[in-house]
Amino acid sequence: MEAMKSKTVIKQFTAWSYSRYRDYSRCPLFAKLKHLDKLPEGEESPQMARGTLIHKIAEDYLRGAIRGFPAELLAMKKYYEAARCRKGMELEEQWLFDKDHELIGHTFPPEVNDPKNPFAWFDTFNNADWAAWRRIYLRVKMDLNVVDRDTNVLIVVDHKTGKFRDYELESYGLQLEIYAMSGMIKYPDVAGVSPRMWYVDAGVQYGEDLFFPRKDQPRLIKLWDQRVKPMFNDTKFKPKPNNKCRYCGYRKEVDGPCEF
Ligand code: SF4
Repeated sequence: MEAMKSKTVIKQFTAWSYSRYRDYSRCPLFAKLKHLDKLPEGEESPQMARGTLIHKIAEDYLRGAIRGFPAELLAMKKYYEAARCRKGMELEEQWLFDKDHELIGHTFPPEVNDPKNPFAWFDTFNNADWAAWRRIYLRVKMDLNVVDRDTNVLIVVDHKTGKFRDYELESYGLQLEIYAMSGMIKYPDVAGVSPRMWYVDAGVQYGEDLFFPRKDQPRLIKLWDQRVKPMFNDTKFKPKPNNKCRYCGYRKEVDGPCEF
């Protein structure tokens, strides 16, 4: 009788987001354990919990669900007050694109989405069906976006907590590029995109001088396809020890699966 052969399933990335790209760049094994194996990283840190809370406060304020001005956002008061007056603002959406960079759907936050039908977004674009789930190539989470009616420029804002760090400027730039690229696809009639980060603790708006004109769209798509290619082709996911290993929930010291 022929011995039964066990089949090893080789996992690979089929979709990306900024956080997946960032985690893969930091350490391929870390990205695999977190995003493909979905192993919990351990307890949520106080910083992460606060970030979630601030996002919710900002969203509630901008939606008009909070009357007074929240103390947590005071350092950026003028920006939030001005944003709340804008018409056509969209909050906390996730945009979903396929490999051809076509927008195939979007999700809303749970309070806007239908809680009984978490896949209601399938009906929102192109009569998408279950096959659309497997077509997702890129996910982009937007905190706030609005088209400026005077300039026809899409303004995209990412709420941030914690310190604004000059040495992180490169990663800030990468995130803003993704907002610009996806914003131009989602809004094909805008002249361009002005993406920004609002550091609510530091009182800093980063990116206000940045503008990506419409003609940048193909360049950004090509650039990001090249950047994520190694992540999509990887089947080995080797560990890459780095200066964040000491915080990694998968490290050896906490009985994680990593050898480091
Ligand atoms: S401990 Fe370091 S090398 Fe190991 S998975 Fe975490 S980040 Fe990667």
